[in-house]
Amino acid sequence: MDLSTALHIDRGQCRALGQVAIRLPLRRERLMPPLPAAAGEETEALHWIIATAICQQTRTLDGVIGGKRLRGSDYLLAALRQHLADHPGRWTPGALLAWTEEELRSAVSDGGDPATSTLDRLEERLRLLRGVARHLLDAHRGSAMALWRDSDRTVADLLARLAPMEAFADPVAKKSHLLLSFLHERGLWPLVDPQNLETAIDYHVMRVALRLGLVEVKTPELRRLLVDQVPVSGEVDSALRLAVRRACREVVGTTPGLTPFRLDHLLWMVGRNCCFYEHPPVCTTPGRCWKMNICSLLESIPHDCGLSCPLSCVCRGAADEGHRTLRETAFDTHYY
Ligand code: SF4
Ligand code: SF4
Repeated sequence: MDLSTALHIDRGQCRALGQVAIRLPLRRERLMPPLPAAAGEETEALHWIIATAICQQTRTLDGVIGGKRLRGSDYLLAALRQHLADHPGRWTPGALLAWTEEELRSAVSDGGDPATSTLDRLEERLRLLRGVARHLLDAHRGSAMALWRDSDRTVADLLARLAPMEAFADPVAKKSHLLLSFLHERGLWPLVDPQNLETAIDYHVMRVALRLGLVEVKTPELRRLLVDQVPVSGEVDSALRLAVRRACREVVGTTPGLTPFRLDHLLWMVGRNCCFYEHPPVCTTPGRCWKMNICSLLESIPHDCGLSCPLSCVCRGAADEGHRTLRETAFDTHYY
């Protein structure tokens, strides 16, 4: 398949999305709840690196933490924060190297009981976690903050310093850009060139970008792979995600005030709520969304959605079934 002709970025559609995105609010504190002050910046930076490193394929995660039902990566982050608060001594690179599958399951469970954990891909996640700990010990004196201090604080240099770790080896750098965005926004790793951050492209963002029509699929062959969820190669997955990343850069670049972080959050939230993979997009029943009680979008993007997708006014998929039936790539990976 000639991937160079199979994908086309619709710049007009990118500009149109930017005009909608910039009007939607963002509640930052919902995205990045701080750790207890006693944790200190070293532990907090380590927490973000580890949480991002093992945050892939989180579909199995669903439970109640702190009295609140959470799922997916929200659950992972809250569970790890809870574990850190309960066992601060286990959050050093040296201690992380000794974590077992049982400790990882305990760290990602409702109340610390490993038997109740729904975390999967344990061997893979443990390998990624230990890889981070090993690299910090070998290359950065066992310090998450030293990785940033050793850099020139540019996006490019920090990406290069993260890349030797398997967890951050993605050619599209989804986890790396997300991590740098989090740490920059939290003021832990301030960047001198945050304008060079990119939107972090995962399966939710991919699906929504395709349905919006930011990236048009030009060949029946690629369309069939996406609609029928036929497993694709890493080359196809990367090409599609890079095209979506370029489209997101176009959205941000043509919309004053919009950042990749903000756009990423909007597309991701729409993807895990209104436009989730497990059910038809909510625009098929405008004004009658049934997910109000489990919707996580409205917590961080507070507005009156009117029980309709906030992007339906600009989305090609809202009116066209051909766009609406597109899906993300079927690709088994730890990159996202
Ligand atoms: S309640 Fe609104 S924002 Fe949430 S999924 Fe439904 S339509 Fe989307
Ligand atoms: S309008 Fe429909 S297809 Fe488009 S992003 Fe929203 S839910 Fe998905």
